[in-house]
Formats: sequence, C-alpha cells, structure tokens
Amino acid sequence: MNVLVIGGGGREHALVKALSRSKHTKNIHAVPGNSSIEKYADVHSDIKDSDIDRIVELAKKENITWAVIGPEAPLNEGLADALEAAGVKVFGPRKLEAQLESSKAFAKKIMFKYDIPTAAYQTFTNLIEAAEYVKQEGAPIVIKKDGLAAGKGVAVAMTENEALDALKEMFAEGEDNPVVIEEFLEGEEFSLMVLVNGEYTLPFNIVAQDHKRAYDGDTGPNTGGMGAYAPVTHIGSDVIREAVSKIVKPMADAMVKEGLDYFGVMYLGAIITKDGVKTIEFNARFGDPEAQVLLGLLESDFIDVLEAVRNKESYELQFSSDSMLGVILASKGYPKDYVKGASVIIPDELEDEIFNSGLNHLKDDRYETAGGRVLLVTGRGNTLEEAKQTAYNNTKKIEFNNDALFYRKDIGERGV
Ligand code: ATP
Repeated sequence: MNVLVIGGGGREHALVKALSRSKHTKNIHAVPGNSSIEKYADVHSDIKDSDIDRIVELAKKENITWAVIGPEAPLNEGLADALEAAGVKVFGPRKLEAQLESSKAFAKKIMFKYDIPTAAYQTFTNLIEAAEYVKQEGAPIVIKKDGLAAGKGVAVAMTENEALDALKEMFAEGEDNPVVIEEFLEGEEFSLMVLVNGEYTLPFNIVAQDHKRAYDGDTGPNTGGMGAYAPVTHIGSDVIREAVSKIVKPMADAMVKEGLDYFGVMYLGAIITKDGVKTIEFNARFGDPEAQVLLGLLESDFIDVLEAVRNKESYELQFSSDSMLGVILASKGYPKDYVKGASVIIPDELEDEIFNSGLNHLKDDRYETAGGRVLLVTGRGNTLEEAKQTAYNNTKKIEFNNDALFYRKDIGERGV
C-alpha cells in the first residue's frame, strides 16, 4: 500500500523509517518531508503541511491508504477530517478531538469533570485578575499560554516576580488568548504514548523521558525538548499501569462520553508526585524527540499496529530490549531568536543514527541549519549507559561551529 506522512521534522523522519520497515508499504510520500526523509520517501517539499486542499489532492492522486499526521498544527487545522472525507485512513485525531492538545482549557475541563488527576488551575483573560491570583497563591506556580506554543508557552516560576513577569509577557500579545495558571507539581516526569480509538487503548509498554529545559541540570527556558531516551527502566510497569488506568483510559472514556471519537496517539506527559501519577499535559501526536527513540525500538510492523488500533483488536506491541538515547543539536539562542544558515557536516557512517529536525542538505555530507532544533543524534546499546556513550561519541563526529550550535551534555543522566 501507499502511505503518506505529514510533517518535516525529526519525528516524521522516525515515522517514515518505521513505515519503511513495514512489509505492507510500497511507496511512502512525505509532505513537506526533509532532505533526510528523501532516502525513504517521495518528498513533496513544495506542499506545506497547512495546505489541506493540495494534500488531499496528492493523497487521491497517489492512491494513499494510510496517512500519518506528525505535527499538532495540521491536526488543529482539520487535516485529518479532510483526508478522512476523501476516503483515506488517517492516524491522527480530527480537529474537534485535537483540542485535547490545542486547548489547555478544554483538556483541563474534561480532566476535572471526570476526576483525572492533574494540577489545580484557573484560566484568565485579564492581566490584573491573573496577577492577583498569583499573589494570592504564591510561588512556585506555573503559567501557560492557552493554544499551541511548540513547548515554549510555559513558564515554571519559582518566585512571584518571575510569575508576574511571565504573565506580563504572555498578555503583551493581547488579552484574547487565555492564560492558564496552574499549581506547581513536584516529581519525576515521563512521556507515555497510548494508541487510542474511542474507548480502545493500546499503551506502549515502555516510556521515554524528554529533557524540556534548554541547558544542563534542567536549567534555562522550556523548549520543544533537548533530548530523550527509552526505556526508562527506573520507572516500573506499575507506574505505567497506574498512568493508563487512572489517566489515559479514563480520558479515552471521557472523550466518548462527551460525544467525541478520538483516533490517534494520545501522548501523556505525566509526573510522579507523592500523591501518585498526575497529568502535566496531553498531546494529540507523538512527542518529538520521544518518537525517534520509541519508534526506533519498536519491532512490531507499524502498519499492523495501525490496523489493529483501527479495528480495535487486541495486539501485543513488541519492543527491542535495547536502550536508545538521542541528543538534540540546537541553534545558539534557541528557544528564543537564533540564526540560521550555519554549516554542519555529518559523516556518512552516521546516516542511520541521526534524525533531521531542521537541516537543509547542500551536497554530500554538508548541511545547513534551517531551524531552532536541527538534529537528533542517537546511540543504541544493551544498556542506557552504552546508548548514552554511543550517542555522545556520535555527536562528537559531527562538525559544526560551537558558536552556532549547542547541545546538552547530560541527556539520560537521571536514568544512568
Ligand atoms: P509540549 O507540548 O511541547 O510538551 P507544552 O507547551 O504543552 O509543551 P507542558 O508540557 O504543559 O507545555 O509544560 C512543559 C513543561 O513545563 C513540562 O514538561 C514540565 O516540566 C513543566 N510543567 C508544566 N506544568 C507543570 C506543573 N503544573 N508543575 C510543574 N512543572 C510543570
């Protein structure tokens, strides 16, 4: 069968690789794809992932059976609805259900209605009232912009002043976009992917850990994610079971009760607090960079998995017993302003170890940066320690200017 992947980052690079390993796939198409995805797929770089009409036209022309939508923005624009209406099987929720990610207020409302453990919160559309609430609650406290912000719309404020500054910054863009103020939760975080179809849930039996902060020691601003590893062996299957039974399954059931029909991956960003596992957030798509390591370890045929979820069949996901760890190379300045166009040289031997997030290919082993997060460099091993060592050794084989790019030196440290 022919399949289509929407998106052009590292996560989509991982999705395309997983699909290329399936015995069912003939041609893979990617919109807009990237220069590394070209190895596995026909890349349609002239089509934007927001151009719903052209994507539907392409899907019809190329006789696409399955479309897998990587990023949140096209889900939120209703791409799944449009492809489905054109007779394509789509992995990714429709616009209505994608609100689980795109509107924090929507997700919180359902969580409170159905007693799904999460941080207490209030929504504000007015700076003065929000500031009063912060003063009343005190710090630490968490301020989040409602709507999609690519992981950069969250301020974890350790002092009241930091919280007030964050509020000012978020309301500076106008008061139409609500701001959510949340209780600060303390504990270890992990990312769990669960494949959902209505009330049907198929959880990944391993979890990943992302590294949200820009700099070593979990300092600096929140980013889209600076590195990830899986499995997280110090987080046991009891914790995963608790996360599924107390959070993800109740959310899938709640969506059904609300008259919604969720189909796609439900990403749970969870935290292990002293009062049990709680929800930090839900996403309506695979995490980036978690997808790269989780799908890298997935041994099941990805199309078989999608069909099982579509038909609500019981299915046992198979993962390698290896560990996999990835380190993000990012443009200096990210997640704030950064410069593009820096040169990166990736030796051929690393072709299968890297996931391209934001690099344009020039010629041979030469690339140029075109984004904030530009590359995930991975390593695999029997143990996490081995995977980490390989990933960092691989990172050292990549040539770039230290004034142009940076990476965290402590990915996976907690697990090791
Ligand atoms: P993304 O979708 O890219 O994962 P986001 O913008 O939706 O990010 P969240 O995942 O809600 O943002 O928050 C980002 C990070 O901020 C979390 O991974 C966590 O480290 C921290 N954080 C968020 N909410 C809380 C909270 N209530 N208590 C403590 N830390 C929090």
